[in-house]
Amino acid sequence: MKIDLKNLTIQKASDHMKRGDFGALDLAEQYVKVIADNNAGINCYLEMFDDIGDQAKAAQKMIDDGTATLLTGIPIAVKDNILIKGRKAGAASKILEGFVSPYDATVISKLKKEGVVFLGRTNMDEFAMGASTENSAYGPTRNPCDESRVPGGSSGGSAAAVAMDGALAALGSDTGGSVRQPASFCGVVGLKPTYGSVSRFGLIAMGSSLDQIGSMGKTVEDVKILYDAMRGYDTKDSSTLPDYDPYSLRGKAEGLTIGVPWHFMRNGGIDPDVLENFESSIKLLESIGYKTKEISLPNIKYSLAIYYILMPAESSSNLARFDGVKYGLMEEGSDLLQTYINSRTVGFGPEPRRRIMLGNYILSAGYYDAYYNKANALRALINKDFDDAFREVDALVTPTTPSPAFKIGDKTGDPLSMYLEDIFTVPANLTGVPAISVPSGKVTREGKELPLGLEIMARRKEEGVLFKIGKDFQSASLR
Ligand code: GLN
Repeated sequence: MKIDLKNLTIQKASDHMKRGDFGALDLAEQYVKVIADNNAGINCYLEMFDDIGDQAKAAQKMIDDGTATLLTGIPIAVKDNILIKGRKAGAASKILEGFVSPYDATVISKLKKEGVVFLGRTNMDEFAMGASTENSAYGPTRNPCDESRVPGGSSGGSAAAVAMDGALAALGSDTGGSVRQPASFCGVVGLKPTYGSVSRFGLIAMGSSLDQIGSMGKTVEDVKILYDAMRGYDTKDSSTLPDYDPYSLRGKAEGLTIGVPWHFMRNGGIDPDVLENFESSIKLLESIGYKTKEISLPNIKYSLAIYYILMPAESSSNLARFDGVKYGLMEEGSDLLQTYINSRTVGFGPEPRRRIMLGNYILSAGYYDAYYNKANALRALINKDFDDAFREVDALVTPTTPSPAFKIGDKTGDPLSMYLEDIFTVPANLTGVPAISVPSGKVTREGKELPLGLEIMARRKEEGVLFKIGKDFQSASLR
């Protein structure tokens, strides 16, 4: 039986498998075929797992036994920085070459219990540093909508896998936009949950006060289903929040008000087509009954500058453990110090090196107060702006990215222009609020249709608001 992967959702696939229209193995095999036919061009998978058949058979057994959940037998892709026991994990870096994880990330153990079928590891920017997946040590991933363009990053492999029907859904990580921006470039949905909502145990750390694992899929509902299976307090991650109900909606499911920080969009630097698309998205939301309101976030303009202080400080500290001795690749030298130097010189690519140098500078005596502490003080001001805004409105919206997917190679020589990609996504990481990117239409470039995304943010612990608005928006745009 040929399965219509394009229109398949988690709910539909689960219903079909429970009715016996097709089995978990049939479904997994169709995805494997798509990957076999397309991965050479797209390069979204770094590795296909060799036990997909066994995983699918185990899932089928759960279905036959009547112990299946909604996620049983659902084939998903996993970003190369999320650990699976007995499998390689490398954050697309040479320095982790040969590293095999001795344990499962919390999100993986949770999904294993549901009988999810893990298809393989997806490509990413090295250590999640980038916005195009060009910083991978294993070659760039291409955007399935136009192969001359990037899929976004750093979870570009996961976004491309879903977009080319090489997985029904995928896991990514988001430190400054790495789930939402590639979702937007590839025309899929991407969620960054509230900081502390999903355990980071078993996620290769980048910026620990910013990182969250997020889900990617074709629909808001699919992303929500994965999120529900992954969230929750975890004794292995002290930054997880006590369990909370993300769906309380404070009794306001109807009549949610959406804030629009127009001043932030009209600063220049945003593609005119993106602005036009955003304006029509606002009109669409109004036409389906949402009230919108102009809102001011006076300090949001500092977000990117603050992020590019705090993130390198945190990531340089996190990357200190990769010394050639404890994990992965080792380039032996005449003594221990030389072994560290050789291993890190050979193992790290240019972007992690740049951030290690920036981070160490920022954290060095004499500069700590001037940079790190100042950035933290400004982070508090942005938090206050968001708290003030969320007293007036239930959600905030911006475009997800300032432009549609750019050409491979266009920004690799200019890190600052690459960093500007994160302008709309970084504030949610600095403040810890949940944010989602939902496809908002397409623009045409050189005869190809390129997707754009609408970013919705809500109060901490109110993912339900994102799903409500996101679903309404997605179904209205499909009408
Ligand atoms: N593009 C951003 C960066 O390079 C975000 C990365 C991320 O979210 N992991 O830092």
